[in-house]
Amino acid sequence: MKTLLPTSTAGSLPKPSWLAEPEKLWSPWKLEGEALTHGKRDALRVSLHEQQYAGIDIVSDGEQTRQHFVTTFIEHLTGVDFENRKTVKIRDRYEASVPTVVGPVSRQKSVFVDDAKFLRQQTNKPIKWALPGPMTMIDTLYDDHYKSREKLAWEFAKILNQEAKELEAAGVDIIQFDEPAFNVFFDDVNDWGIACLERAIEGLKCETAVHICYGYGIKANTEWKKTLGSQWRQYEEIFPKLQQSNIDIISLECHNSRVPIELLELIRGKKVMVGAIDVATNEIETPEEVADTLRKALGFVDPDKLYPCTNCGMTPLSRDIANAKLNALSQGAAIIRKELAAEFSLANQEL
Ligand SMILES: [Zn+2]
Repeated sequence: MKTLLPTSTAGSLPKPSWLAEPEKLWSPWKLEGEALTHGKRDALRVSLHEQQYAGIDIVSDGEQTRQHFVTTFIEHLTGVDFENRKTVKIRDRYEASVPTVVGPVSRQKSVFVDDAKFLRQQTNKPIKWALPGPMTMIDTLYDDHYKSREKLAWEFAKILNQEAKELEAAGVDIIQFDEPAFNVFFDDVNDWGIACLERAIEGLKCETAVHICYGYGIKANTEWKKTLGSQWRQYEEIFPKLQQSNIDIISLECHNSRVPIELLELIRGKKVMVGAIDVATNEIETPEEVADTLRKALGFVDPDKLYPCTNCGMTPLSRDIANAKLNALSQGAAIIRKELAAEFSLANQEL
């Protein structure tokens, strides 16, 4: 029987200190050459073990083989010059030095497929693989070739589709696209952002997800959150169109966020990965707190469509804290499963 309320994480998990400096985003590798190749694989094994040990149902690579959720993918493409960097404002929020698109972009060979095959060999559990979304990719680059955000996004959507098809063939059960940019550029999301995402999943038979969060717990994001007022209604702008889209699962930030939970009504019918773990604090949620967030979500998401998850990736946290949070997620989901089972047997008795 399929597990009710299968737990998963949004994506990245902390790396071991021998691979990269811990508790730091985009931390450079400590190894090189063949040692790095082996080190990444070992880290993937460790991360998988920690997820399974914590009882996570849908596991991932913990993004152990990538330094950055967007640029590591882009590094494998042609048409992008990593030497020629420009400073741009990412998601209208913080400045970053980014590579430049200098010619037609294309993917010469697969990027993560070998890693996905490796993960597939290590576990019988369902696996989820994260890729950057087209809109978030263009937002992490300076475009000196297409001179059109939309045109470049369509090109990336085609490339992502090639990669996604190979990941599916490698045995990935859920392919997730990370689109934090969806929380910022609403007009573009509705005009072409969601259409590009649908291009990226064209022809896939595995499940597909889009992760839309308020970002990692870094200063630029927490400062931005302070400006968003007492109610975060960003999701409201994009949910109606997402509800109509072909995407199967929508991954959202819910715990400790000021997102009014009733906004979930706008995506009724979709599967929802409900973020019940805050990644911007070292405080560890109690199982009851996790259960409380899930209970609220159940007002708008049917039990068979609710996937307990983390708000975002946990790379910047210490391993001990991340593991404790994974445990809390599992235990919180278990509380709700029990409640649902009790309700179910009560309903059957009444019949
Ligand atoms: Zn996120």
